[in-house]
Amino acid sequence: MDCIFCDIIEKKSKAEVLFENKSVISFLDIRPVNYGHALVIPKNHYIDFLSIPLIELNNIIEVTQKISYAINKSINPDGLNVITNNGQAAGQSVFHFHFHIIPRFYKDSFTFKPVLKNYERDSITEFAEIIRSEIKLERV
Ligand SMILES: [Zn+2]
Repeated sequence: MDCIFCDIIEKKSKAEVLFENKSVISFLDIRPVNYGHALVIPKNHYIDFLSIPLIELNNIIEVTQKISYAINKSINPDGLNVITNNGQAAGQSVFHFHFHIIPRFYKDSFTFKPVLKNYERDSITEFAEIIRSEIKLERV
């Protein structure tokens, strides 16, 4: 299987590593939106957010917050995006799960301006119903 992130984990490809423990590694994106743009990935290969086991996700989210604090303190951006893209349509280009931590500035080149829709009549309830019907967890 060809995976650039697995190559980085196995030290077959170089990366500017920020942090590493037994299950997670974080390194700088070589094509950053802004300088300091970091990635956080599991050392085990999972395709995306939907397929990663919860225990692995817990490890990653902890490191993602740690790296976010460090970027915030060291680079002092105006804000941060913490995002994960799932599927090609959502902009995923490496199919090994990863969080992006992107330092943001009021005047940077990254635009994220969705054209917002309005729900027709009661269709918001219909959308909620079909989603709720797939939620297997107890409601709180
Ligand atoms: Zn991989």
